[in-house]
Amino acid sequence: MAGSSRCDERTAQRGVPASSLGISQKVANMNSMPAVAAASMIRRQIGDDHICVLTFDRPESGANIFDGATLAELSQHLDFIENDGSLGGLIIASAKKSIFIAGADLKTLLQQAQSGDMRAFIAKGQRIFNRLAALKIPTIAATHGACAGGGYEVTLACDYRIASDDPATRIGLPETTLGLIPAWGGCTRLPRLIGAEKAAEVILNGKLYSAQGALKLGLIDEIAPRDQLIDAARKKLAEGKRKPSAAAKPEKEIPAPRARGNPAPARALEIVNRTFSISPDESLRLELDTIVDLGKTEASQNLIRNFFLAEKYKKGTSRTPPEKVVHAAVIGAGVMGSGIAQWLSSRGVTVILRDIAREQIDGGLANIEKTYADAVKRGLMTEEKAKEGRARICGSTAPMELRDVQFVIEAASEKIDVKKEIFRKLAMEAGPKTIVATNTSALPVSALADVTVSPEHVIGLHFFNPVSRMKLVEVVIAKETSEETRDRSLAFVRQIGKLPVIVRDSPGFLVNRVLFPYLLDAAELFEAGLEPDKIDTALVQWGMPMGPLRLIDEIGVDICIDIGNTLEKDRYEGKTQTPNELLAQWRRGLHGEPEGAEGPNIPSDLHRDPRLRLNEEDLARRLVLLMVNEAARCVEEKVVDSPEDADYGMILGTGFSPFRGGPLRYAEHLGLNKVVDELERLARTEEKFLPCEILKKHARDGTKFYAD
Ligand code: NAD
Repeated sequence: MAGSSRCDERTAQRGVPASSLGISQKVANMNSMPAVAAASMIRRQIGDDHICVLTFDRPESGANIFDGATLAELSQHLDFIENDGSLGGLIIASAKKSIFIAGADLKTLLQQAQSGDMRAFIAKGQRIFNRLAALKIPTIAATHGACAGGGYEVTLACDYRIASDDPATRIGLPETTLGLIPAWGGCTRLPRLIGAEKAAEVILNGKLYSAQGALKLGLIDEIAPRDQLIDAARKKLAEGKRKPSAAAKPEKEIPAPRARGNPAPARALEIVNRTFSISPDESLRLELDTIVDLGKTEASQNLIRNFFLAEKYKKGTSRTPPEKVVHAAVIGAGVMGSGIAQWLSSRGVTVILRDIAREQIDGGLANIEKTYADAVKRGLMTEEKAKEGRARICGSTAPMELRDVQFVIEAASEKIDVKKEIFRKLAMEAGPKTIVATNTSALPVSALADVTVSPEHVIGLHFFNPVSRMKLVEVVIAKETSEETRDRSLAFVRQIGKLPVIVRDSPGFLVNRVLFPYLLDAAELFEAGLEPDKIDTALVQWGMPMGPLRLIDEIGVDICIDIGNTLEKDRYEGKTQTPNELLAQWRRGLHGEPEGAEGPNIPSDLHRDPRLRLNEEDLARRLVLLMVNEAARCVEEKVVDSPEDADYGMILGTGFSPFRGGPLRYAEHLGLNKVVDELERLARTEEKFLPCEILKKHARDGTKFYAD
């Protein structure tokens, strides 16, 4: 970095830590102020060119974030800068490898949101960023790495923004995806910089952009190679203070996005639409009031919690360094097999893809080609990377040497006999350390392990369709799966960038088991005569990404029937299934049979299935409660280790409304008493709604699934 050696000289001559001084003392001692402050989060360096560089470098962390201490330090540096008349400019930079500033400290934000205490922290950030914006000297942010939320808002308070062309550089304002809004000036300064329309696009999508994308939108002014970033920033400062931008008020109000539970995008848009008719100070006040309001909502707290869950599942807890998987085989080149092979190959793993006939292999390879071509088209991958990926797959119909393969994933047809036969053969072909996994949706993994010579090496790795988009993998622990197999599998799933949830080997594992009662009820309601649109709309309004009937179509009606049969058979095996006498009586009454409970008294306009009279809210409630009940049962039966696993698995595996926090979080928000009452009411006519024991116990004892 230019000027750094000169700056070290100055430090040696001076050397009083700025952060330990009060403001009045600082003014008095201006000449003896250190050029490099001994502050812990932000380093200050001043070169002979009188340019001050503030480098964010949070100790013992790969990331910079804005917490209370960092804000306080930035404030102290501003005290110094405001009072040093000799300075000619300010550069804000980061010392981290792949992060500029990741944003506000979300832990602090979540705690403050829960305790209703967010106002002071946000107001403090606004005051400090306002002081940065008001500096008389030209200022520039030199960003390399993730520059998100508050990390981008601090750059908005500078005159200029320059970014490295490195792929690690990702710039944007993701607050609305967390149920919040950019309230450190984002909703006020960005529209003034790039115009209301583009600002709305950036804030409402909550996306992070590459340096090129950010330049195109006007989020940054220039791009420079990483090693020339600071020099380029120095040059830019020579242009002096930025002239006020001509960005104008939008011609007409930007229409509000469709509200689906997360109120943040619409609230952010209100400010973007209004900000030009009020002063920046008023606009900032509006930001402050809005974020404090949003912080109190269940939606924003759930969305922030989900963010931490994603981090937790990404990292895992294993302390043994994972082996790097470089060689795998996939058996079955159908929808899932080809999807898994494509994903593995794109992550650097070479893959043998096996099927029974050449046509199947060709079909699989065509799927793989399409996924790669799509990724290139959508800018997710370069053509060169796609080419390298494709070259890692070798399709074959003949048995091949599998001794050096670290993982075999079986994704053949969902028939137990077919799979058993495959496992029997694989046991001979695989090496002594090869892990043999099945991608079955609902069949017992232990039954497959039983036909092998080393059942401790057998596990379920249940990927979801489409593999390239779905992040969840259920890691199914069978009866004899060893701990080593479990740990290596978890590490493998993380290596390929998926998120594992551990589940016990039981029918449907977690996701299909919880989802299917919901899908089947939707199908029954449809069969009873309810309009499919009404059912799907009710659930989309409630917050599901698509309605249950559309989901059945997407999964395939035949597959749904197969899975439904497997689950149903297991549920009632060994139990006598009691027909619901009340419902039977009601039906008999409906048909005018004399023994019907209320038959003769049912008015003719009510001679219809009462389910047909359900309004959208009741419909959604009834369907979602089926998932709540089943998710609770998965906790009760220890299919998952924790309520978090159930909730996060459902959010990742089915898109269960993230702002509702998963079925169990939602149940707690509703009140477990109310959930049990409602289930019992529904169970009077339909037995499948009977609440499970753990729900009843929580309701009885006043306890909960979660501590917070
Ligand atoms: P598919 O019918 O598209 O593909 C199955 C493939 O397996 C076919 O190409 C078939 O030729 C091949 N096959 C059959 N016997 C074989 C053998 N002995 N050796 C090698 N290949 C053989 O099925 P799919 O949808 O890809 O499902 C595969 C597995 O993944 C099933 O267990 C299914 O339950 C599971 N799964 C499916 C989905 C989904 O949405 N489709 C999601 C998750 C899991």
